[in-house]
Amino acid sequence: MSTGGYTRRCFLKALGVGTASLAMPGCMGSNQGSALGPDKPNFIIIFTDDQGYQDVGCFGSSSIKTPNLDRMAAEGMKFTDFYAAASVCSPSRAALLTGCYPPRVGITKVLFPRDNIGLNPEEATIADVLGGQGYATACVGKWHLGHLPSFLPTNNGFDSYFGIPYSNDMDGVEGKNKNLDRAWRQKDYSPWNVPLMCDGQVIERPADQTKLIERYTDDAVTFIHENRDRPFFLYLPHTMPHIPLFVSDGFYVEDVQKAYKATIEQIDFSIGRVLVALKEAGVDRKTLVVFTSDNGPWLGKKHYGGCALPLRDGKFSTYEGGMREPCIMRWPGRIPAGKVCSELCGTIDLLPTLARLAGAEMPAARVIDGLDIWPLMAGEPGAKSPHEAFFYYRGASLEAVRSGKWKLRRVKKKTELYNLKADISEKNNVAGTHPDLVKRLTGLMQKFDRDLKANARPAGKGLKEKKT
Ligand code: MG
Repeated sequence: MSTGGYTRRCFLKALGVGTASLAMPGCMGSNQGSALGPDKPNFIIIFTDDQGYQDVGCFGSSSIKTPNLDRMAAEGMKFTDFYAAASVCSPSRAALLTGCYPPRVGITKVLFPRDNIGLNPEEATIADVLGGQGYATACVGKWHLGHLPSFLPTNNGFDSYFGIPYSNDMDGVEGKNKNLDRAWRQKDYSPWNVPLMCDGQVIERPADQTKLIERYTDDAVTFIHENRDRPFFLYLPHTMPHIPLFVSDGFYVEDVQKAYKATIEQIDFSIGRVLVALKEAGVDRKTLVVFTSDNGPWLGKKHYGGCALPLRDGKFSTYEGGMREPCIMRWPGRIPAGKVCSELCGTIDLLPTLARLAGAEMPAARVIDGLDIWPLMAGEPGAKSPHEAFFYYRGASLEAVRSGKWKLRRVKKKTELYNLKADISEKNNVAGTHPDLVKRLTGLMQKFDRDLKANARPAGKGLKEKKT
């Protein structure tokens, strides 16, 4: 499919900027990259927005067709107990990119255009870590870690950026009808004055949301081809299926009840194009592709929200549906095909794992919460989760902990204990019959939260910068 407007590279071409030399000053140039190329794997992280645990064929959807994700799982590994580190966008993204729980890096809330904070450029993102190893790095999609210039991807480790800086339902235009059914039926994205950005510049406003999935994909495919001879890291955080939903004409269906299904199916088609591009560029066998979502489905949006069943609840929640995500990883020849991993792990583990695979040092002089999960990904016999416990923060509040199969949740003086292996839907609170477990897990929560707060780092503050 061709794109109906600018992609990042079209825009640069119009400006007369070549795209073969996009490495930023300060990062290793393409010559060094080429020298490192043959030995280092490439990494692609595809991160969808508000997609539910069940909203992939191989995770149990009966209506949404995802042949490409299903094939990715058949050729790679499906993770059933994989967690985002927050149940909303910005904190979840901060965790993915820094390998830390969100309060560790000061991003505890969803960022709005009125906010003047962002991911602190002093943090080491995956892009910083890999860029230091000569990787070409690109962020293509929704950023949502601060829209002020100093927090944009190109100031947080990425060589290039093409996408929107915050959620697609922000920047609402006063007086315009934001009814989601109307927007879908009329393909009208104008009530949201969201900018489309290329590096630090706005190139279209409002962004044509019907073209976002397609343009991101075009840009991703071009990036893969351009960097076939050097190691690369492509971070592809799709804007969708966060509301309002829009798709390209080829995927459009009038029935609003099928809007969510159509959106996921276009994302799946996009993933298929990325996988084909890897083959065509000759880098399929040296590229690890990770697919997951930033948080659970927005259930309050009814037919525009997804489904996390059999998990309880969705976005905004520390029940499983808010933070346990569908996850698939594929790397032919390195990750065994058709396997399922049910060990506890999550997005915070990607930074340490990718660092190890790239031969990079971990960021110095700071606490990183994530751990290397390569033994799980490689399917090593008997490999176990490296985490004694996983912690569920909501904002700055620690609400729950999981250790092995047990999950303790303490919110508003209510204590809940669930055996997640026997009760994945968190229906049977067994706190009353396991006082020792409640005590042990409460202790783990208290100690961890104390330690985190004693070793937390601040978000970046932009004081007088011009807003995007
Ligand atoms: Mg989200």
